[in-house]
Amino acid sequence: MLNIVLFGPPGAGKGTQSKLLIEKYGLIHLSTGDILRGEIANGTELGLKAKSIMDRGNLVPDEVVIGMIESILGKNTQAKGFIFDGFPRTSAQALALDNLLEKLGTSINAMLSLDVKSEELVDRLLERGKESGRADDQNRDIISNRINEYNNKTAPLKDYYLAQEKLILIEGVGTIAEINDKLCRAIDQI
Ligand code: AMP
Repeated sequence: MLNIVLFGPPGAGKGTQSKLLIEKYGLIHLSTGDILRGEIANGTELGLKAKSIMDRGNLVPDEVVIGMIESILGKNTQAKGFIFDGFPRTSAQALALDNLLEKLGTSINAMLSLDVKSEELVDRLLERGKESGRADDQNRDIISNRINEYNNKTAPLKDYYLAQEKLILIEGVGTIAEINDKLCRAIDQI
């Protein structure tokens, strides 16, 4: 299996790049944000609980997202691999992911971390909010909260993967094609 954590702050381009990478490498895209928005759209109990947390730009509890990932991994044991997008976001999630993959006899090959400056992220997210309709992309305070959550709880995971010699830093600036090129070159060297 080829298992990649596509990492970076909100608005770094993880979703866009994930879609290109799954096509090229035949992987499964696992975006916890997309799954949660699907739960909200379907009006499930989980979706109802998650919505108010997501609308404020806070993180959904670890056990909720870990449970979602566990269930999907269990249903796709024959997959060629996964791109994890927006997961893990806390150290508890990173530890849980390592344990879940170990049970499947596999592991994370690399964390590709897209680096983009905060000011650029806010502009990109506000722009995306015009089309996506996402409540959390339309308000500066909520966007700042999401970036703070990233800086406080999520960015430290780079050290977790660095310690495992799996961290690859990619400058997330340029055209979609240019960034995709950098990601593919990194993946081809794994
Ligand atoms: P995203 O689509 O990745 O930007 O995620 C949108 C929102 O979903 C986040 O601001 C969180 O509220 C929630 N979310 C997505 N993934 C996670 C995760 N791994 N852990 C906690 N909350 C998450």
